[in-house]
Amino acid sequence: MQINSKGLVTLLIYSALALVSVACISTPEPLLSTDKAQTSPTIDSWGFDTTAMDRRVKPGDDFDRYANGAWQDRATIADDRSSVSMFTQVNESVQNQLQTLLEESADAPDLVPGSNRQILGDWYATYIDEPAIEAAGLKPLQPALARIAAIHTRSDLARYLGASFGFPVNTPLTLNIQPDPKDSSRNIAEVILSADGLSLDDRDAYLDTQHKPRLQHYQAHVERMLTLAGFTDTKRRAARVLTLETRLAAALLPRNKIDWTAYHRIPSGEFRQRFPGVDWNTYFAAAGIPDQSNIFIQTPEQLVTGAKLVAKEPLETWRDYLVYQYLKATAEVLPRAFREEHFDFYTRSLGLQATMQPRQTLAIESVKERLVRFLGEAYVQRFVSLETRNTAIAMVDEIKRAFDDRLTHLSWLSEQTRSEARKKLAAIRGQIGYPDQWPETTPLQIIRGDALGNFERRAARRAKINLAKLDQPIERFAWDLEFAGSYFVAATIDPTKPTIIVMAGILQPPFFDAAADPAANFGGLGVIIAHELTHQFDKNGSTYDADGNSRDWFAPEDAAKFKAKGEQLAAQMSSYEVLPGVFVDGQNTITETMADLGGLHIAYEAYRSSLKGKEAPIIDGYTGDQRFFLAFAQNWRAKLRDERLKRDTQGGDSHPVFPIRPRMVRNMDAWYQAFDVKPVDKLYLKPGDRLSVW
Ligand SMILES: [Zn+2]
Repeated sequence: MQINSKGLVTLLIYSALALVSVACISTPEPLLSTDKAQTSPTIDSWGFDTTAMDRRVKPGDDFDRYANGAWQDRATIADDRSSVSMFTQVNESVQNQLQTLLEESADAPDLVPGSNRQILGDWYATYIDEPAIEAAGLKPLQPALARIAAIHTRSDLARYLGASFGFPVNTPLTLNIQPDPKDSSRNIAEVILSADGLSLDDRDAYLDTQHKPRLQHYQAHVERMLTLAGFTDTKRRAARVLTLETRLAAALLPRNKIDWTAYHRIPSGEFRQRFPGVDWNTYFAAAGIPDQSNIFIQTPEQLVTGAKLVAKEPLETWRDYLVYQYLKATAEVLPRAFREEHFDFYTRSLGLQATMQPRQTLAIESVKERLVRFLGEAYVQRFVSLETRNTAIAMVDEIKRAFDDRLTHLSWLSEQTRSEARKKLAAIRGQIGYPDQWPETTPLQIIRGDALGNFERRAARRAKINLAKLDQPIERFAWDLEFAGSYFVAATIDPTKPTIIVMAGILQPPFFDAAADPAANFGGLGVIIAHELTHQFDKNGSTYDADGNSRDWFAPEDAAKFKAKGEQLAAQMSSYEVLPGVFVDGQNTITETMADLGGLHIAYEAYRSSLKGKEAPIIDGYTGDQRFFLAFAQNWRAKLRDERLKRDTQGGDSHPVFPIRPRMVRNMDAWYQAFDVKPVDKLYLKPGDRLSVW
């Protein structure tokens, strides 16, 4: 798991989260729920499209084909895509919702300055207004270029590098605010000589001679960008930029030489002695970090070398480098020539994409990426009903109860582990759809017609938020609204916090529909939520306890049993042939398939107990259990190009490819009964070979 102040923590399956501390609480704006609530399912009579099935196939022979076969036959993969699935479809639906929201906001008259709608609408309208960006030419760039041109001394350089924490750029002496590795209850500042200041992928891109043609191409690209910005003598300048970046790259240790457990906690006042060459007092003051704060350093040897480069490389070289880095980081809101040049070097020349996406698409993406907090709240107000949220909360509660019931009765757990596990489960809080309250947030001034200025102000706001976290305790239960938008099509956990977060983007058909049959919801999103919950108890999750403290609470004999169960499942998975000669890597996918197995068992029990002892009605000729399993298979409804199937299977993805995942039903006794599966059927497993974990 990696966390930094500019990126996202990527966890597990659909997830992206980080940490935030929240201050005061505001009264939430009223929900406009009247146009959002509905009474009948969006999809057919119970939330599942039965025309997607292929009933010519026996469910016991090929359950994926039985549930999804007709859909697979009629689905087409777009030319610029390598797959189509439920997830791509729901993502498209969210994309359309966001477009509606942003266009409405951009067109709305008299928006209150500083309101979510004003921020979103004016950002979007400004970003999309290419003629205005073109007409403004180089003028908006002048303040940033003047800031760099004013670097005349080494102290000026240190000041710029420190202050760049609040600029919309990456620089090599990177400052992060992150959890203290030795005291995960508090945030600490980290200074690192990082690859963030390099334009190409990593140090090897500069140092390995086989990349020389790409480096020459890079130098020519820098030359063109500087020329576009009005500089002269750009050939020489570009050569200097490349020289500096190559030296920065050489100062970085190869990844396999880094001691990831190293920990140095140094007061900022001691930096001058430890890392000579940089005017650190000026650097920290410009970054807004008070003197004598403790700073975490992981790789002091890198920083020593990096500091020397700040001391020795000519200032004119630094200025040219910083100008290029600024142009690179903001190219998307500069005149078209910059955008074309940037796209040509970083995308087209690598064969990734032949043409730029439409401006409208890029504008939506920029809001999704940069205005997460504001878009998240506006999305919920516009599209998520209270009823949807309440139904989802009730489902999560039912899943937690079923999980607890299973934990109470699982025979393989020792009493010690059982008790710790139940305690942790009880502590887990669900944040469903959106947070309980929208905390007051740091304001942002977005001005219509000032695209680059909006970038600048947004970066300054981000720095302010990060600085406010310094030396503060970590908010263990909070959903980081600045990083994870409620419009994400995702459910996630962070093993360091006893929470499960289900974002509103995934509370949509076919995964979930408050008006649909409960079997469809438990078999759909319910299984995904239960899958995520089990991650709180697997080999990562079990190293954090009910309070979110780092403590391995799994008794060793239970850990051994858990591992053995994983091995059995890995053997089952490894027997699956995805394409002729291409098999699932059971070992590599153990963690995720264990979560799939546990999630399916738990969600099924939750569905059964939600019936309160009654039998579910027959709908469209299907029993409640049949509908549960059909909805489960529908989650993984997907069509992938062969190359993609092969790449995903052999490329180290820790999840099995989608079309394999419905086969997990083979381990469920209830599935055999529901579909009358017999020993002659291809998916049949003898009762003793059916696996369970949670
Ligand atoms: Zn997972």
